[in-house]
Amino acid sequence: IGYLVEPLQRLPHMTTQFQEGITGFQRFMEIMRLQPAIKSKPGAVVLPNVHGEIEFKQVTFRYEDRFNPVLLNLSLRIEPGEYVALVGPSGAGKTTLCSLIPRFYDATEGEVRLDGTNVRDIELTCLRKQIGFVQQDVYLFAGTVMDNIRYGNPEAGEEEMIAAAKQAGAHDFIIRLPQGYHSEIGQRGVKLSGGQKQRLSIARVFLKNPPILIFDEATSALDNESEGVVKASLESLAQGRTTLVIAHRLSTVRNAQRIIVLTKDGIVEQGSHEELLAKDGTYAHLYSKQFEF
Ligand code: ADP
Ligand code: MG
Repeated sequence: IGYLVEPLQRLPHMTTQFQEGITGFQRFMEIMRLQPAIKSKPGAVVLPNVHGEIEFKQVTFRYEDRFNPVLLNLSLRIEPGEYVALVGPSGAGKTTLCSLIPRFYDATEGEVRLDGTNVRDIELTCLRKQIGFVQQDVYLFAGTVMDNIRYGNPEAGEEEMIAAAKQAGAHDFIIRLPQGYHSEIGQRGVKLSGGQKQRLSIARVFLKNPPILIFDEATSALDNESEGVVKASLESLAQGRTTLVIAHRLSTVRNAQRIIVLTKDGIVEQGSHEELLAKDGTYAHLYSKQFEF
């Protein structure tokens, strides 16, 4: 049992550092078991003021030595505050690429840098505080709506927590629940729609207030109506933050400052929607199929 208890004790502390979907959460548990090497190194730095520049320098990544690399010699630089969409076929390595930023995994070769510092040299808690995740599956635990939002920042006061819910477009539906912010969610509590759950997860990230965001197919499980509401919340969250969006749907990608097309061959194209259409290459081909991978 000691084997189980120790990571579980560390978990509440560590999971508050970033927002995770249930798959992400399970993956995170797995990673803690499989990636004991990922920890702060002695003398790791705490960055006082992160701008949110992300750089991949000739990054190669394999899940295991005997596997083929998912990413091979990949280089990419994202400016602070930039809104970047990552598109490409399923299995191309989009989620993998993003998972190297918070160090769910470490690059096999090359470097991932945050504001010019190798992520391996940054204190892990500090690193993960800088990144907000919104994923397809939202991880909510049994507890009140308020507890679930505070998961983004346990130290936040009630006013701050409500402000975050308002920013996420969640306040109006929350106050209509039987006990408002004190309503219990989970099996014995209120049932929330997919779009409502997603807005709670966005409220968490507003409360956490990180300079970097990763949206991994955040709206792909939603119906059209919820998608519109959630997308508006995500756009407002993205203001002034470095944002990396993995998207299946064209409408999410179109307004990105830069679209990066990742395939098994690496980054094959990048540019604006118009530039990539004019190229008549991979993106134009995906576009013609409306991203139905
Ligand atoms: P995408 O997000 O673009 O669909 P992924 O990054 O999820 O792609 O996956 C890229 C490749 O890595 C796929 O071949 C996938 O099967 C493999 N892969 C993903 N996660 C793992 C893992 N934890 N262990 C081994 N292989 C994995
Ligand atoms: Mg993926």
